[in-house]
Amino acid sequence: GRAPLPLAALSQVLRLERSRRTGIVFPLQKLERYLAPGTDTARFRLFQPGLAALQRAEALFRSDRGHPIDYVSSAVRMDHAPPPALPEVCFIGRSNVGKSSLIRALFSLAPEVEVRVSKTPGHTKKMNFFKVGKYFTLVDMPGYGYRAPQDFVEMVEAYLQERRNLKRTFLLVDGVVGLQKTDHIAVEMLEEFGIPYVMVLTKIDRASRGVLLKNVLEIQEFIKENTQGCFPQLFLVSSVEFSGVHLLRCFVAHVTGNLPTVEAS
Ligand code: GDP
Repeated sequence: GRAPLPLAALSQVLRLERSRRTGIVFPLQKLERYLAPGTDTARFRLFQPGLAALQRAEALFRSDRGHPIDYVSSAVRMDHAPPPALPEVCFIGRSNVGKSSLIRALFSLAPEVEVRVSKTPGHTKKMNFFKVGKYFTLVDMPGYGYRAPQDFVEMVEAYLQERRNLKRTFLLVDGVVGLQKTDHIAVEMLEEFGIPYVMVLTKIDRASRGVLLKNVLEIQEFIKENTQGCFPQLFLVSSVEFSGVHLLRCFVAHVTGNLPTVEAS
């Protein structure tokens, strides 16, 4: 197995001094102090769980004998997908956006989980299903690209349209470059299907504060003006520094119905 990252567990994050801790657990809030006075930050704090909720969520992502977390199967077609028995979330995004790294970070407290990557050109792209105990399933959707083959587009569209147990789609966007043309195509598809989704800004450790602020404000404005199904709060993550990963675990637990109450922090 892999050694867990140094900040993979909340107990490790809680040892940091306050400002660093806020940056790791609530990276969006950390940006707030750099905004012009009067900026509306209501959308920065819609999902702001307290420590107890964060800890309950972490327990879900920590495997043990009575709570296995496993890769289940891969599918290239909907009729190969496992039965829709549990609440489900899926992760989509352009190739190279940091999706496998993020899923590995989410599952870092379950080191036996293998997040497979099939990047070889021409290699069949598959949906990978992971089961988190008896609580939910997480699906790693194949990365979409500029010239995605038609059968791939059909697979993703069929999944998003038909999957009855799909509770939320996580659309990953590169935090350094912001929304790209292919991301807009994904947004249009999700809007057309009318399914709930949320945007996750990746690799935030690589963006300067100025670039990050610009991208965050632009994307939040875009969400407000142009979308119906997108959660108004952005999630910011770095799989390297582990920022935003604890909060994202908590949001996944919440949307899959595994956190009955989320008390404010
Ligand atoms: P995927 O194609 O979406 O699965 O992307 P990967 O997870 O394989 O990441 C693509 C590249 O970005 C790799 O070189 C990763 O090491 C890098 N990367 C992914 N996440 C992060 C991050 O949070 N911070 C930084 N600095 N690099 C990242």
